[in-house]
Amino acid sequence: MDLVFATHNANKLKEVSLLLPKDIRLISLEDLGCNEEIPETGTTLEANAQLKADYITKHYGISCFADDTGLIIDALNGAPGVHSARFAGEEKDSEKNMEKVLFELKNITSRTARFKTVIALNLNKKRILFEGVVEGRITKENLGAQGFGYDPIFIPIGYDQTFAQLPIQIKNEISHRGKALQKLIIYLTKQGI
Ligand code: IMP
Repeated sequence: MDLVFATHNANKLKEVSLLLPKDIRLISLEDLGCNEEIPETGTTLEANAQLKADYITKHYGISCFADDTGLIIDALNGAPGVHSARFAGEEKDSEKNMEKVLFELKNITSRTARFKTVIALNLNKKRILFEGVVEGRITKENLGAQGFGYDPIFIPIGYDQTFAQLPIQIKNEISHRGKALQKLIIYLTKQGI
Protein backbone atom coordinates (compact mmCIF):
# COMPACT_ATOMS: atom_id res chain seq x y z
CA MET A 1 0.00 0.00 0.00
CA ASP A 2 0.93 3.66 -0.37
CA LEU A 3 1.30 5.61 2.85
CA VAL A 4 2.14 9.28 3.14
CA PHE A 5 4.56 10.40 5.84
CA ALA A 6 3.60 14.02 6.52
CA THR A 7 7.04 15.52 7.03
CA HIS A 8 9.35 17.89 5.19
CA ASN A 9 12.30 16.52 7.19
CA ALA A 10 14.55 14.43 4.90
CA ASN A 11 16.31 12.87 7.92
CA LYS A 12 13.05 11.60 9.37
CA LEU A 13 12.06 10.20 5.96
CA LYS A 14 15.37 8.34 5.74
CA GLU A 15 15.02 6.84 9.23
CA VAL A 16 11.45 5.74 8.61
CA SER A 17 12.10 4.34 5.13
CA LEU A 18 14.76 2.03 6.62
CA LEU A 19 12.22 0.58 9.07
CA LEU A 20 9.02 0.19 7.04
CA PRO A 21 8.36 -3.21 5.40
CA LYS A 22 9.00 -3.17 1.66
CA ASP A 23 5.31 -3.73 0.80
CA ILE A 24 4.51 -0.29 2.18
CA ARG A 25 5.48 2.42 -0.31
CA LEU A 26 6.43 5.55 1.58
CA ILE A 27 5.17 8.72 -0.11
CA SER A 28 6.78 12.00 0.89
CA LEU A 29 5.09 15.40 0.92
CA GLU A 30 7.29 16.35 -2.02
CA ASP A 31 5.97 13.30 -3.95
CA LEU A 32 2.49 14.55 -3.11
CA GLY A 33 3.29 18.07 -4.34
CA CYS A 34 2.67 19.53 -0.89
CA ASN A 35 5.16 22.31 -0.21
CA GLU A 36 3.21 24.17 2.45
CA GLU A 37 4.39 24.33 6.03
CA ILE A 38 1.79 22.36 8.00
CA PRO A 39 0.60 24.33 11.06
CA GLU A 40 1.76 22.98 14.44
CA THR A 41 -0.32 25.02 16.84
CA GLY A 42 -1.14 22.32 19.40
CA THR A 43 0.07 22.41 22.99
CA THR A 44 0.99 18.72 23.14
CA LEU A 45 2.97 16.32 20.94
CA GLU A 46 -0.22 14.30 20.48
CA ALA A 47 -2.17 17.34 19.25
CA ASN A 48 0.58 18.41 16.84
CA ALA A 49 1.03 14.94 15.34
CA GLN A 50 -2.75 14.73 14.84
CA LEU A 51 -2.92 18.24 13.33
CA LYS A 52 -0.30 17.32 10.74
CA ALA A 53 -1.96 14.01 9.80
CA ASP A 54 -5.40 15.64 9.65
CA TYR A 55 -4.08 18.42 7.40
CA ILE A 56 -2.94 15.89 4.80
CA THR A 57 -6.09 13.78 5.04
CA LYS A 58 -8.26 16.89 4.67
CA HIS A 59 -6.37 18.40 1.73
CA TYR A 60 -5.35 15.24 -0.14
CA GLY A 61 -7.90 12.61 1.03
CA ILE A 62 -5.22 10.00 1.53
CA SER A 63 -4.03 7.62 4.29
CA CYS A 64 -1.09 9.09 6.10
CA PHE A 65 0.86 9.38 9.30
CA ALA A 66 2.70 12.24 10.94
CA ASP A 67 5.01 12.46 13.91
CA ASP A 68 5.85 15.04 16.52
CA THR A 69 8.86 14.80 18.80
CA GLY A 70 10.00 16.55 21.95
CA LEU A 71 13.17 16.50 24.02
CA ILE A 72 12.19 16.45 27.70
CA ILE A 73 14.94 17.52 30.11
CA ASP A 74 14.30 16.88 33.81
CA ALA A 75 16.51 19.73 35.12
CA LEU A 76 14.58 22.15 32.87
CA ASN A 77 11.22 20.97 34.20
CA GLY A 78 10.45 19.13 30.97
CA ALA A 79 11.59 21.86 28.56
CA PRO A 80 11.95 22.21 25.64
CA GLY A 81 9.22 19.54 25.27
CA VAL A 82 6.56 20.48 22.78
CA HIS A 83 8.57 23.65 22.00
CA SER A 84 11.69 21.70 20.95
CA ALA A 85 11.78 22.98 17.36
CA ARG A 86 11.56 26.65 18.37
CA PHE A 87 13.44 26.52 21.69
CA ALA A 88 15.92 29.22 20.63
CA GLY A 89 13.60 31.10 18.26
CA GLU A 90 11.22 31.00 15.32
CA GLU A 91 13.96 30.10 12.83
CA LYS A 92 13.99 26.49 14.16
CA ASP A 93 17.80 26.40 14.14
CA SER A 94 19.15 23.14 15.62
CA GLU A 95 22.60 24.59 16.39
CA LYS A 96 21.05 27.45 18.36
CA ASN A 97 18.62 25.09 20.09
CA MET A 98 21.50 22.87 21.29
CA GLU A 99 23.55 25.89 22.34
CA LYS A 100 20.65 27.09 24.46
CA VAL A 101 20.21 23.66 26.10
CA LEU A 102 23.93 23.44 26.94
CA PHE A 103 23.90 26.99 28.28
CA GLU A 104 20.90 26.36 30.52
CA LEU A 105 22.49 23.16 31.86
CA LYS A 106 25.92 24.79 32.32
CA ASN A 107 26.38 24.15 36.04
CA ILE A 108 23.92 21.30 36.35
CA THR A 109 25.20 17.77 36.97
CA SER A 110 21.87 15.96 36.81
CA ARG A 111 21.35 15.82 33.03
CA THR A 112 18.74 13.10 32.53
CA ALA A 113 16.43 13.53 29.56
CA ARG A 114 14.25 11.63 27.13
CA PHE A 115 12.99 11.93 23.59
CA LYS A 116 9.33 11.24 23.04
CA THR A 117 7.69 10.76 19.65
CA VAL A 118 4.00 10.56 18.96
CA ILE A 119 2.88 9.20 15.60
CA ALA A 120 -0.66 9.91 14.41
CA LEU A 121 -1.99 7.49 11.80
CA ASN A 122 -5.07 8.31 9.73
CA LEU A 123 -6.13 5.14 7.98
CA ASN A 124 -9.53 4.29 6.50
CA LYS A 125 -11.34 6.94 8.59
CA LYS A 126 -9.65 5.72 11.80
CA ARG A 127 -7.26 7.94 13.80
CA ILE A 128 -4.74 6.15 16.00
CA LEU A 129 -1.78 7.39 18.07
CA PHE A 130 1.47 5.50 18.78
CA GLU A 131 4.15 6.58 21.24
CA GLY A 132 7.86 5.90 21.64
CA VAL A 133 10.28 7.07 24.34
CA VAL A 134 14.03 6.72 24.77
CA GLU A 135 15.73 7.63 28.04
CA GLY A 136 19.19 9.19 28.12
CA ARG A 137 21.26 12.16 29.16
CA ILE A 138 22.50 15.45 27.79
CA THR A 139 26.22 15.81 27.02
CA LYS A 140 28.37 18.83 27.89
CA GLU A 141 29.28 19.50 24.24
CA ASN A 142 28.16 18.58 20.73
CA LEU A 143 29.48 15.18 19.68
CA GLY A 144 29.10 13.56 16.25
CA ALA A 145 27.95 14.64 12.83
CA GLN A 146 25.20 12.20 11.89
CA GLY A 147 21.48 12.45 12.50
CA PHE A 148 19.75 15.78 13.01
CA GLY A 149 18.16 18.08 15.56
CA TYR A 150 19.37 17.46 19.10
CA ASP A 151 21.17 14.19 18.20
CA PRO A 152 24.71 15.55 18.94
CA ILE A 153 23.87 16.28 22.60
CA PHE A 154 21.83 13.18 23.50
CA ILE A 155 23.37 9.91 24.75
CA PRO A 156 20.79 7.09 25.00
CA ILE A 157 20.87 5.02 28.17
CA GLY A 158 23.19 1.99 27.89
CA TYR A 159 25.48 3.69 25.36
CA ASP A 160 28.43 6.06 25.60
CA GLN A 161 27.95 7.81 22.26
CA THR A 162 25.40 10.35 21.11
CA PHE A 163 22.74 9.63 18.50
CA ALA A 164 24.92 11.69 16.14
CA GLN A 165 27.84 9.26 16.67
CA LEU A 166 25.90 5.99 16.59
CA PRO A 167 25.07 4.34 13.23
CA ILE A 168 21.55 5.13 11.99
CA GLN A 169 20.61 1.42 12.33
CA ILE A 170 21.32 1.52 16.08
CA LYS A 171 19.48 4.82 16.50
CA ASN A 172 16.51 3.29 14.68
CA GLU A 173 16.53 0.19 16.89
CA ILE A 174 16.37 2.07 20.18
CA SER A 175 15.04 5.52 19.39
CA HIS A 176 11.77 7.22 20.27
CA ARG A 177 10.75 7.32 16.59
CA GLY A 178 11.90 3.73 15.97
CA LYS A 179 9.80 2.48 18.90
CA ALA A 180 6.68 4.41 17.86
CA LEU A 181 7.11 3.18 14.30
CA GLN A 182 7.44 -0.45 15.42
CA LYS A 183 4.02 -0.08 17.10
CA LEU A 184 2.60 1.40 13.90
CA ILE A 185 4.01 -1.49 11.86
CA ILE A 186 2.52 -4.08 14.27
CA TYR A 187 -0.85 -2.32 13.94
CA LEU A 188 -0.68 -2.31 10.12
CA THR A 189 0.32 -5.99 10.11
CA LYS A 190 -2.69 -6.86 12.31
CA GLN A 191 -4.91 -5.05 9.79
CA GLY A 192 -3.50 -7.33 7.10
CA ILE A 193 -1.64 -4.46 5.43
P1 IMP B 1 9.40 17.89 15.10
O1 IMP B 1 8.87 16.57 15.50
O2 IMP B 1 9.85 17.85 13.68
O3 IMP B 1 8.45 19.01 15.40
O4 IMP B 1 10.71 18.12 15.94
C1 IMP B 1 10.82 18.94 17.07
C2 IMP B 1 12.26 19.21 17.36
O5 IMP B 1 12.90 18.02 17.79
C3 IMP B 1 13.08 19.73 16.19
O6 IMP B 1 14.02 20.65 16.69
C4 IMP B 1 13.76 18.50 15.67
O7 IMP B 1 14.99 18.81 15.03
C5 IMP B 1 14.00 17.73 16.95
N1 IMP B 1 13.97 16.29 16.68
C6 IMP B 1 12.97 15.55 16.18
N2 IMP B 1 13.33 14.26 16.06
C7 IMP B 1 14.61 14.19 16.51
C8 IMP B 1 15.54 13.12 16.61
O8 IMP B 1 15.29 11.97 16.27
N3 IMP B 1 16.75 13.45 17.12
C9 IMP B 1 17.08 14.71 17.52
N4 IMP B 1 16.25 15.73 17.43
C10 IMP B 1 15.01 15.48 16.91
